[in-house]
Amino acid sequence: MQKTCTKCKLLKSTSDFNVKKSAYDGLKPWCRSCQKVDAKRYRDLNKEKLNRESRERYYTDPNVKASKRKWEKANPDKVYAGTKRFRARHPDKAAGWNAVRRARKAATTVGYVNYQEIYEYYNYECYLCNEAIDLTVTWPHPKSKSMDHIIPLAKGGPHTRDNLAPAHAQCNMLKGGD
Ligand SMILES: [Zn+2]
Ligand SMILES: [Zn+2]
Repeated sequence: MQKTCTKCKLLKSTSDFNVKKSAYDGLKPWCRSCQKVDAKRYRDLNKEKLNRESRERYYTDPNVKASKRKWEKANPDKVYAGTKRFRARHPDKAAGWNAVRRARKAATTVGYVNYQEIYEYYNYECYLCNEAIDLTVTWPHPKSKSMDHIIPLAKGGPHTRDNLAPAHAQCNMLKGGD
């Protein structure tokens, strides 16, 4: 059986068409490759919107988050490759991260800091926006807890109680540094 695609006007085998039950011949009017091209065009045109939607889904739908985490666990090599690609594309950011990681490594050898005490000292409030921090909210939620270095490690700030303050992950990120 053959059928002409209404998009590319080529005569193709019916197996090149996806099923559409409501259609008179039970098949979609466009062939599979035309549909693919159109889907890609749609994705390219709506990239920002789709990205935003998937980000929102990520924050609001626990299933999406859980399945992503499961995927990450099963594919550590791919996660690593993705990070590497990101670093290659953003060498400026990567340099900052490296400085932070080096500083953090050096700093953590300095001594133990009791985070609980710091949260209590700040009354479980974000020191940047002064709103409460819910410790049960977890990363990557924008309101999840994070411990900020008031003077960033990358700028020589120490990893000590005096230089640490609780902040929402998002407030921390907006402030920049680490
Ligand atoms: Zn076609
Ligand atoms: Zn905040």
